[in-house]
Amino acid sequence: MIFLDAAATTPVRREVLDAMWPYLTGEFGNPSSHHTLGEAAADALAGARRSVAAVLGCRPGEVTFTAGGTEADNLAVKGIALARQAADPQLDRVVISAVEHPAVEESARYLERFHGFAVDVVPVDGTGRVRPDAFRAVLRPETALASIMYANNEVGTVQPIAELAGLARGLGIPFHTDAVQAAGWLPVDTGALGVDAMSISGHKLGAPKGSGVLFVRGRTRVEPLIHGGGQERGRRSGTENVAGAVGLATALTLAQAGQLEERRRVAAMRDTFINAVLAGVPGAILTGHPVERLPSVASFCFPGTSGESVLLELERQGVVCSSGSACAAGSDVPSPVLTSMGISPEVAHTAVRFSFDALVTQADLEAAAAAVLDGVGRVRGLGAQRLARG
Ligand code: PLP
Repeated sequence: MIFLDAAATTPVRREVLDAMWPYLTGEFGNPSSHHTLGEAAADALAGARRSVAAVLGCRPGEVTFTAGGTEADNLAVKGIALARQAADPQLDRVVISAVEHPAVEESARYLERFHGFAVDVVPVDGTGRVRPDAFRAVLRPETALASIMYANNEVGTVQPIAELAGLARGLGIPFHTDAVQAAGWLPVDTGALGVDAMSISGHKLGAPKGSGVLFVRGRTRVEPLIHGGGQERGRRSGTENVAGAVGLATALTLAQAGQLEERRRVAAMRDTFINAVLAGVPGAILTGHPVERLPSVASFCFPGTSGESVLLELERQGVVCSSGSACAAGSDVPSPVLTSMGISPEVAHTAVRFSFDALVTQADLEAAAAAVLDGVGRVRGLGAQRLARG
């Protein structure tokens, strides 16, 4: 099997599992316990926090461990907006882009439904990019928070985060970015990016599902969503997932260490793959930005097919990929990410995404390209036969 669905999830790396193992077995203590086992767990958690902070260029106290990217996004969007509204009731608007992950979009809609917020949605251009002038145009004195993703999960388009964050911060508006897809591939130094909050998920990086991080800068106030024993400096109650935190910290550190070299290598292979598909499949459309895209994502529309049938055909040939984001898979609604980029609903239904981890090889991608050429041809051929039969 050639697994080209790494944007959906990745297997746990061996080094990550090894780092986690002690905290799942012998050193299983609760970090809040006042005995040796508890202290060992607390030390491990503190070490993981320091490692994450080193990669993010922040202080350990600015790192909150969560149960994944969705929770980190919820905590950022709801937590910061609600805290700001509590301090100043006039702050009752949030800004998001048209291509956010549902974890951000639905958090904003929750604020709209239950807390009287208005949601301002910044459009994207045909490549999925937010234009800084369009972003600036929706920022208002009442904006409590702006949240724009770093890199898109469906088409891989990378946003000009430092520029957007600068515009928001210049107006005193906290800026959050969902870096779930970017982490491991792009620089995540929070100082250089100038963001006030950033979400990361472990399972996209070779750490387990259900591990995540929210960075929140300095004194930015966050209303907790989960109440209880006051763990994570009161931001996220619940006994900490020590092994998950250690795993995430290990995976993030490893990904960061090899980043520049991996990025170039994988991006070059991605481009060869994209060119082979575009040259070999008549009418194939590359979705997303041609250059400002994740090294790890190649996404297309194949008019005259359905993404689902291409997916099944490719799986039959041993290539596993996705027909859109995993969260939207199975739904009949065309991807809002693609339609907001100006792609018609009919064409959006033909979307297929290939996403790689750093272990992908040239041979994998050559085989995948051959399978795509063949698979799309077959799906189109079957469609034509069906039409001819009436
Ligand atoms: N944000 C983006 C951009 C994602 O791609 C995902 C997962 O697909 C998430 C958030 C949610 O992360 P998690 O699966 O850890 O809840």
